[in-house]
Amino acid sequence: MTINLPAPDRVLILGAGPAGYTAAIYAARAGLSPRLVAGLQPGGQLTTTTEVENWPGEVAIDGTALVEKMRVQAEHYGTRIEHDLVVSLDLSARPFTARGDSGAIWRADTLIVATGAQARWLGLPSEQALRGAGVSACATCDGFFFRGRDVVVVGGGNSAVEEALYLGNLARAVTLVHRRDRLRAEHILQDRLFTHPKITVRWNHVVEEVLASGSPVSVSGVRLRDVRTGLLSDMPADGVFVAIGHDPATALFRGQLGLDSEGYVVTAPDSTRTSVPGVFAAGDVRDRHFRQAVTAAGMGCMAALEADRFLLEADPDRTPRQATVREVAHA
Ligand code: NAP
Repeated sequence: MTINLPAPDRVLILGAGPAGYTAAIYAARAGLSPRLVAGLQPGGQLTTTTEVENWPGEVAIDGTALVEKMRVQAEHYGTRIEHDLVVSLDLSARPFTARGDSGAIWRADTLIVATGAQARWLGLPSEQALRGAGVSACATCDGFFFRGRDVVVVGGGNSAVEEALYLGNLARAVTLVHRRDRLRAEHILQDRLFTHPKITVRWNHVVEEVLASGSPVSVSGVRLRDVRTGLLSDMPADGVFVAIGHDPATALFRGQLGLDSEGYVVTAPDSTRTSVPGVFAAGDVRDRHFRQAVTAAGMGCMAALEADRFLLEADPDRTPRQATVREVAHA
């Protein structure tokens, strides 16, 4: 039996957050007719934040509206968007092959991985109910709304300490709640935390419930449990920042792409190149440090430029019209 495989796309992009859409805009404007598979959560983490106030050019914009503008721009320049989820991938030979949940098969000369990451949550019903109403997993995104207010940060790693320090410059008081009696964050960060006048640490406690009041309802505090005694206590707070880690969406690539010990895609220094030639990675799927929409977009741009360069090197006879990414980049 002969299976008719589709002709390969030049660029296949997985993920519909700022990294994926920016890669799509650059690749589309280069005449590469990219195909973007949007995945389960089109828009990515931006759709779970409220107002975005640090996207250049927008004083304040709803996260979902921002990413929708990116989708419109990507489609306007010729990106083909597939509302599907890639469930299997073969990167062993070019063109690469991807199969969607719908059964669709795509082949591509280059692949841009922009599948993002997801914040870990405590798993409390009250926490989920109050996301966007005082519960957040991103201080740089939402901290500004808590100027002069009291906030709680949960966690004991670098992220939690960095979030607490960031919030310490904005909030009236910050309480770091940690389940053990020592932090795993780097010592230099711990030193800054312990000497910060607005930050206190509540050791050996976990959040049992996020408390809420008002109309519209918003966070009013947390119910804490002392892990040594089991005693419960309530603490007033206006915001709760959960900073207990992130999980990159890389299950699909395990065994095919180089991943680090925590599952992030490994890329070459100052590049989006991965361990497989022709595969590039951009955004939170390869970045545990910055995790901003604007940094993800920047990496999406880099990935499209590098994919274009890769295609050009593989096919030097390509017509100049198709090489406009370079022209645009160096214009
Ligand atoms: P992390 O290092 O895994 O720390 C997670 C913290 O959350 C730990 O303190 C952990 O407690 C706590 N935690 C986990 N699950 C919890 C739960 N269900 N309830 C309460 N507490 C819970 O995560 P991260 O801080 O996001 O850092 C991830 C990686 O990125 C690390 O390698 C880190 O070094 C790196 N990073 C680096 C920087 C930087 O270099 N500037 C900044 C951010 C992140 P236990 O301590 O008890 O396990």
